Amino acid sequence: MIDFSVEPEFQAKLDWMDQFVRTECETMDLLFPEQGAQFDPGYTAAKRHLKPLQEEVKRQGLWACHLGPHLGGPGYGQVKLALMNEILGRAQWAPTVFGTAAPDTGNAEILALFGTPEQKQRYLGPLMDGEIVSCFSMTEPQGGSDPDVFTCSATLDGDEWVIEGEKWFSSNAKFASFLLVIAVTDADAPLTERMSMFVVPTETPGIEIVRNVAIAGDFDPENGHHAHIRYNKVRVPRDHMLGERGGGFKVAQARLGGGRIHHAMRTVGMCNRALDMMLERAVSRTTKGKMLGEHQMVQEKIADAVIELEQFRLLVLKTAWMIDEVEAGRMKHGAPRKHIGMCKVAMASVYASVVGKALEIHGSLGISLDMPLAKWYGGHMSLAFADGPTDAHKSQLARAYLKRPKPAEGMFPSEHIPTRTAAALARYPHARES
Ligand SMILES: Cc1cc2nc3c(=O)[nH]c(=O)nc-3n(C[C@H](O)[C@H](O)[C@H](O)COP(=O)(O)OP(=O)(O)OC[C@H]3O[C@@H](n4cnc5c(N)ncnc54)[C@H](O)[C@@H]3O)c2cc1C
Repeated sequence: MIDFSVEPEFQAKLDWMDQFVRTECETMDLLFPEQGAQFDPGYTAAKRHLKPLQEEVKRQGLWACHLGPHLGGPGYGQVKLALMNEILGRAQWAPTVFGTAAPDTGNAEILALFGTPEQKQRYLGPLMDGEIVSCFSMTEPQGGSDPDVFTCSATLDGDEWVIEGEKWFSSNAKFASFLLVIAVTDADAPLTERMSMFVVPTETPGIEIVRNVAIAGDFDPENGHHAHIRYNKVRVPRDHMLGERGGGFKVAQARLGGGRIHHAMRTVGMCNRALDMMLERAVSRTTKGKMLGEHQMVQEKIADAVIELEQFRLLVLKTAWMIDEVEAGRMKHGAPRKHIGMCKVAMASVYASVVGKALEIHGSLGISLDMPLAKWYGGHMSLAFADGPTDAHKSQLARAYLKRPKPAEGMFPSEHIPTRTAAALARYPHARES
């Protein structure tokens, strides 16, 4: 039975989080609003303010809760993590304050799953403690979302792997202590066995950040935090491979499932905040002699936003529940895959729709940078591209569903009423006789 309720002790934790995020993390957003500030280890003022907050989160036992118990975490399961992430979605700094910021969460997960004891000690420990940040370097400028055409390669030379090629949109590379780089090691192998993952310390000679690309919502176009990187014969010792040779795809996949749910639920949290703003404005401003909220088209926007958000929230929670069912052995491995795809696709459109409506109800104030809505709205397409473009996920989802049906046997679809009526009358020829 699907059940999203939590025990009172956990609800008390959620209540504490909610209060803390509103009072402390939203304050961090106001004090340190620069894009990417939360990842910058050199931002000493922000770090000074951040540390005591992180310590408080640790004292509450709420630090880095995304890891399962076998990986050293509390093992809350995805439904509880989803509810926590919904709260974290309210503030840009919240994931950093709670030790659950992407891409570090996913990177920590795969280090914990596939790392050697040495890799865990050197990278996972400091990453989990919030001492360092990391980068996931997969997308290529010419390859985009199509790994079939990835060219960045790694070749074995004695006891070292030599990495050569370019990567694109390697977020946070300029702040990171290490990069997780996926590179072609076995060019003739099938796609899923062609690449391997490497842990590359950022001080390794040959790593060249060509540019730090800025995106919508960034302050400075020349100082973004999505790196175009050139790997110029970058040498790492043989033991810097993460997972098995040819297993890069498997490693990369392992970081996406849970992460997508957390992302989706943080989006719900942000939309909740946009909805609150929308409702407050609707009962605060009058035009043409009545409150905004008394105008029917404003009411329509509110109703549509509430419904879309509720539908999306339930989809994400159901998906989280399915992942927990797989973990508990009550559902087949892979069963939630389609639902994870649905969450990924719906996330960007629900976000754009709810934030867009909130912005519209605020008029010129909404589009101004005096409110957070315009910046949020500018970021909505990022959600549609990060972790693969919406279109690719839609296409994958449709193909999965297209495997189910058999082609109709006759000229007409199997639900063709005249054909079905004829068949029904053949079975019961006297049924309509009076
Ligand atoms: C904010 C942000 C952060 C990111 N962070 C990282 C990171 O840390 N590390 C990293 O490696 N990458 C990162 N990325 C890159 C991201 O994974 C890519 O943007 C994504 O995979 C799409 O690749 P592309 O941008 O080259 O678009 P393309 O692959 O060129 O796609 C462009 C368009 O083509 C169409 N299309 C492409 N493929 C398909 C398909 N299979 N089916 C149907 N239509 C398709 C879609 O309309 C799509 O929007 C980030 C991206 C963003 C926006």
